[in-house]
Amino acid sequence: MSLVNCKGLSKSYGDKKALSQVDITLNAGSPIALVGPNGAGKTTLFSLLCGYITPSSGEVSLLGHKPGSAELLGRIASLPQDASLDPNLDVLTQLTFFGTLQGYNRKNAQAEAIRVLNLVDLADSAKQKPRALSHGMAKRVAIAQALMGSPELVLLDEPTAGLDPANAKKIRELVKSLAGTTTFIISSHNLDELEKLCDQVLYLEHGQLRQSVSMAESQHDDYITLTMQGCESASLIEAVLKLADISSIEERQANQFLIKHNSAESYAIEISLLTLFKERNWQYKAILKGRTLEEKLFS
Ligand code: ATP
Repeated sequence: MSLVNCKGLSKSYGDKKALSQVDITLNAGSPIALVGPNGAGKTTLFSLLCGYITPSSGEVSLLGHKPGSAELLGRIASLPQDASLDPNLDVLTQLTFFGTLQGYNRKNAQAEAIRVLNLVDLADSAKQKPRALSHGMAKRVAIAQALMGSPELVLLDEPTAGLDPANAKKIRELVKSLAGTTTFIISSHNLDELEKLCDQVLYLEHGQLRQSVSMAESQHDDYITLTMQGCESASLIEAVLKLADISSIEERQANQFLIKHNSAESYAIEISLLTLFKERNWQYKAILKGRTLEEKLFS
């Protein structure tokens, strides 16, 4: 049974079409990214999946059940974009309360609250009230809340927005470490982050699903993305074009080159690139198999 199934899913707010005829089938597994420009319909899709709003037309099911149905209690969780905490209750009391709503008795709810606070490195702040927390800490508490009960599916709407790089990294590591038991769907504008985390990327635009990109497949396409430390572009392009099995090379942004090749083995190309750099004393920053997510979505 698929984890998420949407068929002809549409949502309008008055005469504003926020989602239009979206068909998606997602299976449990590695994290899935949901990207798209502002107003593309990402939050609307999340809200439909969570059962916060109902579709104008079409169908949606999670693990074979309608969003919001009792069968999904404790199996699906979400971090809404604007998640906020009750300012009057300390963190532990709030999470314990949410645990009891999930069906835990008080003692187990508290133990579960402490477990998830440990996951986000905030056990020491359990007795703090939200106003004593920084924005990043409050966001991590909200992420902890979404992890209570180890749900099978967790929807994270911009989980690292506003977090400093160290905390954003911690959240990425947490998602990676839980990816064996929980499937995450992550909405974010940070393509670099999604590229590191996700195997599948859904691209929404104007309420429509425009692309579904598999990152794993792209490892086997005929491209190499080369980022140089700094070199004379024309000389690099000329030299690379002389290497065996190179079809084309283009500078796509400053110091970043997209190479298309026709070799069955990209290692052969990588070795000839490294040999060339050594000969010319050129410094490179990165050699990436395939194209970047940005390149795939917007080229
Ligand atoms: P962002 O990246 O800015 O968070 P998004 O992709 O999450 O955007 P949505 O919030 O789902 O986009 O909005 C999709 C469209 O629906 C937008 O045009 C928005 O103005 C509209 N919309 C969303 N919620 C409502 C609402 N409650 N009433 C009216 N229009 C709405």
